[in-house]
Amino acid sequence: MTRDSIHLIAHCLLNPHTRLKGLQPPAFEPEGAVVQLPCPEALLLGLDRWAVTFEQLDHPIFRRLAQELIRPVADLAEMFSDNGHRVVVVGVAKSPSCGIFTTTFGFEGGLPRTAEHRHVAGPGVFMEELAQELAERRIEVEWMEVG
Ligand code: SF4
Repeated sequence: MTRDSIHLIAHCLLNPHTRLKGLQPPAFEPEGAVVQLPCPEALLLGLDRWAVTFEQLDHPIFRRLAQELIRPVADLAEMFSDNGHRVVVVGVAKSPSCGIFTTTFGFEGGLPRTAEHRHVAGPGVFMEELAQELAERRIEVEWMEVG
């Protein structure tokens, strides 16, 4: 029997205060049961952080943080999946952390500047780690992104 869907939702879709200053939250109405994922960028870099790109987060300490944050969420997802729930992950378009189908590249080092970043197809670092963890546990998941 398939039970209710469980949505694993990027943190800022429920709490926009973790988003980069000046970024408007995407319009989003959560449906059904939700599990709020942690915000890896706020936890590592704080609320007053600069914008970052995929390359800046694609290093061991950020990936280790992501893996630590993801493990308990994956435990929950595994239990829900084993109990017949459909698991859906909802990410944030173009985020270097939480993009599912689109992310942001462009960091080349040096002084802070934002004009050079570009949006490309592919997941952010946090969602890449989440996908790997869920795949290793053979949890069937649907993916969507908003924004
Ligand atoms: S997209 Fe992810 S990392 Fe960025 S503010 Fe939202 S939850 Fe945090």
